[in-house]
Amino acid sequence: MAVLDLKRKLAILSDAAKYDASCASSGAQKRDSLGGKGVGSTEGMGICHAYAPDGRCISLLKILLTNFCIYDCAYCINRVSSNVARARFTVKEVVDLTLNFYKRNYIEGLFLSSGVIRTGDYTMEEMVRVAKSLRLDHDFRGYIHLKLIPEASPELAAEAGLYADRVSINVELPGDESLAILAPEKDAAGIKKAMGRMRLHIEDRNAPVKAGRAKPRKFATGQSTQLIVGADAAKDGDILARSAALYGSYQLKRVYYSAFSPIPDGSARLPVIRPPLVREHRLYQADWLMRFYGFGQGEIVAPGEDLDLTVDPKTAWALRHRGDFPVDVNTADRETLLRTPGLGARGVDRILQARAQTRLTLDDVKRVCGSVKRAKPFIVTADWTPGAATDGEGLRASLVAPQQLSLF
Ligand code: SF4
Repeated sequence: MAVLDLKRKLAILSDAAKYDASCASSGAQKRDSLGGKGVGSTEGMGICHAYAPDGRCISLLKILLTNFCIYDCAYCINRVSSNVARARFTVKEVVDLTLNFYKRNYIEGLFLSSGVIRTGDYTMEEMVRVAKSLRLDHDFRGYIHLKLIPEASPELAAEAGLYADRVSINVELPGDESLAILAPEKDAAGIKKAMGRMRLHIEDRNAPVKAGRAKPRKFATGQSTQLIVGADAAKDGDILARSAALYGSYQLKRVYYSAFSPIPDGSARLPVIRPPLVREHRLYQADWLMRFYGFGQGEIVAPGEDLDLTVDPKTAWALRHRGDFPVDVNTADRETLLRTPGLGARGVDRILQARAQTRLTLDDVKRVCGSVKRAKPFIVTADWTPGAATDGEGLRASLVAPQQLSLF
């Protein structure tokens, strides 16, 4: 095999890592600043953005240790039977790249994933060596996210938690049956076991320390996972039911949804076109409603059904429950306000604060929430009532975002 220079490896292994969802910017339009013109290029090799546990948006070097893989998961471009350029970093190369990028202020951390080489343990050991060397040899205090290999031994997974801020294990497909068909070498039960063990480690290691006891070494503060959307026949309701179960059972910080990308020479069992990106977007919105707005999964969309792609899930819910509206922003409780279209969690908190001083008008709500466009047909204020508009036949159409017509 030809020896690849570092830049070529970086090009291959950062491109291969783009299928791992961890980013807020993965859907961003790509712009470059070639020729020294413009700022804000999103083309930098391997650099993406993610949210740290404290909510900060941080830049990460996002790469695979290698895109060689002994497995043959049908939906994955790195599967053993795929005809793609391959590369592999050494542990030292990843450590040096991370430090160099960090010192130049390009990144604030590392997101490291990998194809499986030789065995799960061998691969995991290499990844742990990267994180360990960064922390212990170089006193690296940036963010580290390690993607765990589910088949790796529990000891190695626990060791990964000692050096990473966040760990994740990909569930990949919403249904175990689909996983058995499309990724026969993966073991759905093994993935769940690995997540369960990691949950216990995270809870044990981050539990408050009793007075007089030594503080244990820092440990990862959370785990997350990724579900591929549109590679199998799972409906949005099935996907969200899976997410709700994962949040409940393993206390995950996040479930990431990644729209399936058709791959060259893909299996005939896979779709030939990718699902619309708006589907991924609606799933994130629905996930948000479950985590921060008090919605049960079944209230948003039933298993076996898809989300409405034309309006956001909260608006879709409100349109199905018009009898619950309009709500009076001057008297409604927090839970009710959170269920009102157009009112975000921060806006609701501001409304609650402001109404302690005065009766709010529509302009007041606009001032604290930024806009009342979507909320207007669903709220009553001191100077506004939507009258029959909440039940009007044209309400739904008025809330659908205008679409740019295709030129072709
Ligand atoms: S194990 Fe991971 S990298 Fe390997 S083929 Fe499956 S999804 Fe791809």
